[in-house]
Formats: sequence, structure tokens, C-alpha cells
Amino acid sequence: MRKPIIAANWKMYKTFDEAVEFVETIKDKIPPEEKVDAVVCAPALYLPTLVEIARDTDLAIGAQNMHYEEEGAFTGEISPKQLEAIQVDYVIIGHSERREYFNETDEAVNKKVKAALSHGIVPIVCCGETLEEREAGKTEEKVANQVKKALEGLTEEQVQHVVIAYEPIWAIGTGKTATADDANAVCGHIRNVVKELFGQAASDNIRIQYGGSVKPENIEELLSKEHIDGALVGGASLQTESYLKLLEAG
Ligand code: 13P
Repeated sequence: MRKPIIAANWKMYKTFDEAVEFVETIKDKIPPEEKVDAVVCAPALYLPTLVEIARDTDLAIGAQNMHYEEEGAFTGEISPKQLEAIQVDYVIIGHSERREYFNETDEAVNKKVKAALSHGIVPIVCCGETLEEREAGKTEEKVANQVKKALEGLTEEQVQHVVIAYEPIWAIGTGKTATADDANAVCGHIRNVVKELFGQAASDNIRIQYGGSVKPENIEELLSKEHIDGALVGGASLQTESYLKLLEAG
């Protein structure tokens, strides 16, 4: 039985005070860790403070990106070693916004996934097709390729710690959600890819989230599907009330 994981991706929203207030407000209201993994992926600037506030609660804190090197002359970057040192538990890797606006390649995504795992940080690896790719019938091919490249060189054991987020690009921030059946079909396809590459146990255990205009009104139907084990949520994760509702559906 896979435990649902509901992760907030705040992107470049919230001031420091707003972020602190959010975590202070929800930290003692979230469902128990045995039921759902609750994660807030905040701007890097706020991570040490939020980790401290969330300590000894059921809320985990994540980053939205990182470099794959441990240290070095990479102005403006943050390393897995630095995230580990402040006890960050999760990191989003290869979000479509990073691939599009910051030229993040499949190769870099693969290096980041390996670096996160070697520092005990759970990578939430994003994949997803554009509207053109979907209309051209290329969804499965695109997503399979991204997943294969992201997981290349991992062991069967390591793969089970990875979370994959299927986020169709046309559904992000648009109010358009993939139907629960369509989302489930692609998540099932991803699970099959994992099975081909890493075997049955890895495929049974790896958690696959859906992301793209998830909100309290549609999360239950999405989570009721066989292959959808959680959600990666942008807009609807920015208010405490709706984030708590999303967690309750988990
Ligand atoms: P929205 O929930 O705002 O569509 O964003 C989805 C997303 O990109 C999460 O990573």
C-alpha cells in the first residue's frame, strides 16, 4: 500500500513573514504522518526557518531545486550537501518551469536525482507533455523518455525512494486539469516504465503524483485512481485552508 504524498510547490510566491505564518498556522493541524506525507516546498531563502518551525511535527519541508555538485564555484546555486545540513527532506527536480526557463536538461535532472538520493533527500521528479505533444499523440513517449533519463543508473532500491510527479504542462496554472482517467492512464504508463527498468517491487512501491490545477474540488477523484499516489500543487497550496483540505483528502 503506497502512502499518499501531497506536496505544495509555492514557486516564487510569499514573503518571509507570509511563509512563516503559513507554517505556524498549519503545523499542528495536518493529518498524522502515518496517513499522508505532507510537504511544503518553499523558496530556498526560507528553508532553515521553516525546518525549525516544522520540527517535531508531521510536516516536511522541501526545496524547489538544487545543483548536483556538493560545492564549488557556482554563483547563486544551492547544493545537496547544504540542503542536507539544514535537514531538508525533499527537493523538486526538473519542474517544467525549470526545464523551460532555466534550460534544465534530462542529463542535469539525472545528476540531481542521484545527488539528492546520496544526501538522503527525496527527489520529486517532474515530467509531462506540452499541449502540442498531447495533441500529436506523443504523451506516453515524451513522459517515458523523461522518466527513463531521470532514473538512469539508479539501483532498484534507490528508485523506491523517488517520487515522480506527472504534470502535463498545459494543465499547470491554467485551471485545466487532466481528467482523472487520463491522468491515471499516464501514471500507469510511468509505473510500467519503472517495471521494465527496475522490476515489479520498484514499480509497486514508487509513488507517482499528479500535478496541474489540483484543488480541493478535484483531488479526491484524482486520488481515487489506482496509479495516482498524491499531488504536487501550485496555486491551491498557497492558502492554509485549501492546503489543509488537500491534505485531508490524502
Ligand atoms: P498549479 O497547481 O498552480 O496548476 O501548479 C502545478 C505545479 O506546477 C506544481 O508543481
